Amino acid sequence: MAKKQERNEHQICSFCGRSASEGLLMLRGIDGYICNECVEMAHDVLTTELRNHKTFKPKGNEIPKPKELKAFLDQFVIGQDDAKKTLSVAVYNHYKRISQPLDDDVEIEKSNILLVGATGTGKTLLAKTIAKKLNVPFAIVDATVLTQAGYVGEDIESILTRLLQNADYDVEAAQRGIVFIDEIDKIARKGDNPSITRDVSGEGVQQGLLKLLEGSIVNVPPQGGRKHPEQKMIAVDTQNILFICGGAFDGIEQRIAQRLNTHVVGFVSSIAQHAIDRNHLLQYISPQDLNSFGLIPEIIGRLPMITYLNPLDRVALRAILTEPKNAITKQYVKLFAMDNVKLTFADEVLEYIVDKAVEFKLGARGLRSIVEALMTDAMFEIPSDKSVNELNVTLDYAKEKIDRASAKILE
Ligand code: ADP
Repeated sequence: MAKKQERNEHQICSFCGRSASEGLLMLRGIDGYICNECVEMAHDVLTTELRNHKTFKPKGNEIPKPKELKAFLDQFVIGQDDAKKTLSVAVYNHYKRISQPLDDDVEIEKSNILLVGATGTGKTLLAKTIAKKLNVPFAIVDATVLTQAGYVGEDIESILTRLLQNADYDVEAAQRGIVFIDEIDKIARKGDNPSITRDVSGEGVQQGLLKLLEGSIVNVPPQGGRKHPEQKMIAVDTQNILFICGGAFDGIEQRIAQRLNTHVVGFVSSIAQHAIDRNHLLQYISPQDLNSFGLIPEIIGRLPMITYLNPLDRVALRAILTEPKNAITKQYVKLFAMDNVKLTFADEVLEYIVDKAVEFKLGARGLRSIVEALMTDAMFEIPSDKSVNELNVTLDYAKEKIDRASAKILE
């Protein structure tokens, strides 16, 4: 380890042989010196080397098996078993596919995934968590900001800008990454007749997206947007990028119900009428329903794995507060522990937080803002108060803090 810097004119850099008298700053090692310029050069060399070696390499060089992937998801995401299974299988197959030799005669097709479920049920969390496990670049983009080229908004290619940036512009790594496209339902075709008005953010965007999903070489503006027209484009092959799309598809249950009814009356149905769980229709979602919702058949064809997420009930919300590896309450306990304060929550406080999340109709997303409102005062006061080494959050305290902040939480 280099010791502290020195300023002695006679010191010579052991790497380049130049002397401190040339205005260089010397770091002293056990038996010699290194100048600031050599340190900078070594840094550049190392960064480039590391970047070149950062390709997809799962731990132990083996692709994690679907059961292992699901067990990992279980640590962070509550419930949603069907979605977890589908996602684990799709990701496993995807990585098997990209590790197969090129000259193989049976080509495994890409299995992009569609997650359908109400907002705040864990779609983004699932995608994020799986990317963490695989140690690949990951980007989240919102389909609502996309428009056809030439219109105000972001071009489709900007989806890949985010991925490239997150991969430190390592194109190789980005080409094996995962992109989560949120709110894909918002680019559904608005009317049944696409030619009534120009559908700037609907079918045109779907057509553009299709190019990415099916795998093609796309010229990506490395800085994104149109603010830098002079920038040099980077060619990115989307062939091996896994796309996970998510959307709430509000109202799609009616379409599912309609289809199931017609089928039972008119055709032979694989699901017996009595076996249909009418309270959870999302589980029967099929490509047909997505089509009648306004996704073009080509897009649906490129999203062969369709799965759903259940709405979160009280039990799930309560579990989300305390069970995941990085559960909200665990994060606060850790923050307080860093100030040597033991933080605990009374059981009824957790119930109250869940009550409020349900009352405010904020789902899991609301849990964090409620806990934040509850803890802000304590987070402000306690670090300066050496006499406190324990804080037990009681129901009275919680009611006072949360009720006072209700208006803000609901903003
Ligand atoms: P979506 O993408 O479906 O709108 P998110 O994944 O962004 O929802 O979830 C919002 C927040 O709610 C997440 O940060 C997470 O903390 C929490 N959350 C949602 N669903 C779950 C779940 N099933 N398990 C654990 N946490 C969840």
